[in-house]
Amino acid sequence: MHIDPWTSDSIKDYSELKKEFGIEELPEISEEIPNSHLMFKREIVFGHRDFDKVIDAIKKGDEFSAMSGFVPSGEPHLGHKMVMDQLIWLQALGGTVFVSVADMEAFAARNIPRDKAKKIGRDYLLSLIALGLKEKGSYFYNQSEEKDLEDLAFELSNNINMAELNSIYGFEGNVSLAQMYSTAIQSADILYPQTEKFGGPKPVVVPAGTDQDPHMRLVRDVSNRVRLFKVEKNDSKMIIRSKEANKDQLIEFKDILSNSGDCSVFEEHIEIEEYRDEEEIRKKTREFELDQGGYGFIQPSSTYHRFMSGLTGGKMSSSVEESYISLLDDPEEAEEKVMNAKTGGRSTLSKQKEEGGQPEKCSVYELFFYHLLEDEDEVEEIYDNCVQGERLCGTCKQEAADYLKSFLEEHKSKREEAKEELDKYM
Ligand code: SF4
Repeated sequence: MHIDPWTSDSIKDYSELKKEFGIEELPEISEEIPNSHLMFKREIVFGHRDFDKVIDAIKKGDEFSAMSGFVPSGEPHLGHKMVMDQLIWLQALGGTVFVSVADMEAFAARNIPRDKAKKIGRDYLLSLIALGLKEKGSYFYNQSEEKDLEDLAFELSNNINMAELNSIYGFEGNVSLAQMYSTAIQSADILYPQTEKFGGPKPVVVPAGTDQDPHMRLVRDVSNRVRLFKVEKNDSKMIIRSKEANKDQLIEFKDILSNSGDCSVFEEHIEIEEYRDEEEIRKKTREFELDQGGYGFIQPSSTYHRFMSGLTGGKMSSSVEESYISLLDDPEEAEEKVMNAKTGGRSTLSKQKEEGGQPEKCSVYELFFYHLLEDEDEVEEIYDNCVQGERLCGTCKQEAADYLKSFLEEHKSKREEAKEELDKYM
């Protein structure tokens, strides 16, 4: 299976994807999340990498961040709202939220001039504020205007090679240098919240669709590669390897570790036998690395959500306006799209009453499930009534359209208010 952030088709088999790319199951840990969001309760978010670290931080009240980059290539739509909802929820749980307008990626991968991309990106940011992201604990930026980000990207790029990009992204011969470099910028976006400017290392989660997983695989590897010290462990001992193999440095660090177990220094590493507290050793290593001018990055985490289907059937496509509801749609325009949407209804009224509808194949049911109804009982009632043939598509679509119209009307006026606020978030 091939996935990349620019050309991937809709995912047909999520379990195969999890197996192939080593994405972990979410259900077991979602119960541990306080005030779990409906996207977790309904298993719309279905998998993760290392999200446990963030859950731990939430439970302990420790610092953590959530980050997302929006590639401004079209209007923000309900697919983007899924990420926005998670960012707002993570902020409410105590996280700081970083949002990158990926104008460099838009230029490199989609040939959108950067000024235009920044202008489109503004629409994403306004919707995010209108949906409820607070100014306190938010940091928005355009990639091309963030000097510290670019410096970080340049350093990271020195640890990324062509063979790796080919293997992760499936690049072929005609890929531009800008697109290759934009992968280092994405990695920098994700590690940026952990830099000294923002208080240093901390758990960071990126809520995303599975098409973004290649960025996560790259950044997780790179975050380790730029570490000055690497911690490994086997059954009986922990090994701390020095990237720069400076023996004096290792001797100095051995003294700091002397209470953690039985330490010995070698040319390029320290071994600790009968170690007492693994977490403590990792923490001391990070602190020592920061002291030596390193980054001490914690491998970033991610969560993955399912994609919504397009209203016209198949996948949502930014080039087919009828296939998605834009957050900028006029309410009447959105109503028309819903009324013309592909449903899981039967071909005739009598068949619908006899056999029942198929909500699992219905884009209108998805609107209720993903966005329009928070109450579990109401969603279940729609499902049950549909499969029992007690619900008819015409009235069902009208109900969804009415919910959507009132959401979009309110969203439009909140976006107007957000225009006054936006500069404070940048
Ligand atoms: Fe979809 Fe509603 Fe029709 Fe069921 S009744 S198939 S949920 S539109």
